Parts: sequence; C-alpha cells; structure tokens
Amino acid sequence: MFDVVIVGAGPAGMTAAVYLRRASKSVLVLEAKAYGGQIINTPDIENYPVEAHISGFDFAQKLYEQAKNLGAEFRFEKAVEIRDGDVKTVVTTKNEYEAKAVILATGSENRKLGVADEDKLVGRGVSYCATCDGNFFRKKRVAVVGGGNTALEDALYLADLAEKVYLIHRRDTFRGEDATVQRLKARDNVEFVFNSTVTALHAEKKLTGIDVTNKDGSVQNIEVSGLFVAVGRIPENKNFASLIDLDPAGYAVAGENCRTKTPGVFVAGDNRVKDVRQLVTAAADGAVAATEAVKFLAQ
Ligand code: NAP
Repeated sequence: MFDVVIVGAGPAGMTAAVYLRRASKSVLVLEAKAYGGQIINTPDIENYPVEAHISGFDFAQKLYEQAKNLGAEFRFEKAVEIRDGDVKTVVTTKNEYEAKAVILATGSENRKLGVADEDKLVGRGVSYCATCDGNFFRKKRVAVVGGGNTALEDALYLADLAEKVYLIHRRDTFRGEDATVQRLKARDNVEFVFNSTVTALHAEKKLTGIDVTNKDGSVQNIEVSGLFVAVGRIPENKNFASLIDLDPAGYAVAGENCRTKTPGVFVAGDNRVKDVRQLVTAAADGAVAATEAVKFLAQ
C-alpha cells in the first residue's frame, strides 16, 4: 500500500511527488506515455521562474530525477479506474495498487481537427508535435493550425527548419502571446492565413496539400507536406468521472486546494478547472495537491 498514488508524470504529478517525498510519504507515480507530459513538446521554455531558457525535455528530465532521487517510485502503466473506499484501489492495464490517497494529474490529450483522413495520415504528414516531427520537414512547406501559444511556438520552431510555414487560424487575432506573434512577423518564411479552417487533406501516400476555407466561403489549396495541428487539448478525466465533478468541457471541478468531491482524491494541473494553464501553475497545483494530501493522511 502506498500513501499516495499519483496518476500522471507531468509537471503537476512530478512536483506533487517531490513534495510528498519531502513529507516522507510513500509515492507511486503512474504514467501512460512519457515522463513530462505535454511540456516535452515545448522546444524552449522562457517563462518559468529562474530558468530564462530550458527545453521542455530537459525540464521534464530534471524534475523526474529530482522526484526519483527523493525516492518516488515510477511505473509506465495507464490507470483506467479508481475504486473508492477507505483504501483506494488504482487499477491500471497491468496491475492494481492500493493507496490511502490519489492525485489525478492526468493532463490532457491533443484535440483533433476532425477532418477526413486525419487519423490515416498521422506519421505521413499530419503531426501533433512540432518538436518531435519537425526535423522530417527540413526545407519543405508546412502548415500549422491554431492560434494559441502552442501553435505560435510550433510555427516559430518550424520556421527555422522548413522552407515555408503557413499559420492557419480561424480568427484574425491570436490567443497566444504577442511577443511570439511579433517574432513570427519578423520571419520572411511565415505567412498568416486568418479567418480560415482546414477543410480537406490531399494525399497520395503522404500528405501533399490542404484545402483551407475562409469565412467568406472561398477555398484555397495550399501545397504542404506537413500539417501540424495545435488546436488545444482535451482533459483526460473520463476514466475517473464517477469520483470527480466535471465541467461541460470535461475539466475536473476543484478549487485552489485541489480537493475533489471524493475525500482523498485530488486533482492537479491542466485537467483541473482553472483560468491559467501554464507550466508554473501546473507545478503550483502539484505542490498544493501534495500538501492537501498530507493533511488528509494526518486526519
Ligand atoms: P489553446 O490556448 O486552447 O488554443 C487553441 C487554439 O486552437 C485557439 O486559437 C483556438 O481558436 C484554436 N482551435 C480550437 N479548436 C479548433 C478547431 N476545431 N479548428 C481550428 N482551430 C481551433 O491551446 P494551446 O495553444 O495548446 O495552449 C494550451 C495552454 O497551454 C494555454 O493555456 C497556453 O497558454 C499554454 N501554453 C503555454 C506555453 C508557454 O507558456 N510557453 C506554451 C504552449 C502552451 P480560438 O482562439 O478561436 O478559440
């Protein structure tokens, strides 16, 4: 039996592990995909206190080592269910673990465009991760879809590699930071395509082009071999919906103390209802959820 099982090894989950180990609690961290969560896709973090520049991968690696060196146990297993009780049972695809408390730091998954053949072309031109796949598109023409920080940063990253980057956004103002917009404007190989959505993908074996439909109804075909989709994320809470309240968008309802309606079940990070989803707020959630879990264990 663990004091706390943490579901998700992103910045929130791993920060919670650091705090719990420093409070001498036994901790198991379960991760389905990769340590670090979505932050590993960020090429250069510039807004985390103290570090002026650090790659998301390095940040995740350092945090993992910090938690591991403090004695947190990590396993690559996907949690699919939690059974409530005085002792909670965390069911994964491989095992069952007992815990006195659970922190859900599951983060979110990529939202898809929903355009025909999108799934079929993943790995053949369609990507959700510029830093993972950008290298395949050196000196080629690519498009990025979205208007948030992810899309802006992806476009900037790809501008260093690709011959040409089209940044396609459904409105004419960006949701992401103006500082990044200004840097994109300074690049001569970046073109903004506003008020437009991707409505069709063209491919032979691989992606060859996209149809982009403007709000005025006009359609243009753009030849690209890469399409980077960065249209936001969907919180990964559905497996645990019986224990937590979800808002209409699927985010876990919990206040700043990260407590849910189920005693001993806490949420931390991007899967929680909040106004600001940033690395620093994910880490803050991890600290708060761990501290609240320690209080719960003492009851
Ligand atoms: P986001 O901020 O939710 O932005 C998603 C973008 O995709 C929006 O511009 C949205 O358009 C557009 N969109 C949504 N559904 C669409 C659809 N079906 N078709 C076309 N466009 C669609 O998502 P994100 O950029 O992934 O960022 C998520 C969070 O992480 C944000 O809080 C962001 O600030 C944060 N983040 C921070 C950093 C950093 O601090 N360095 C880096 C990356 C991400 P509308 O604008 O019209 O709604």
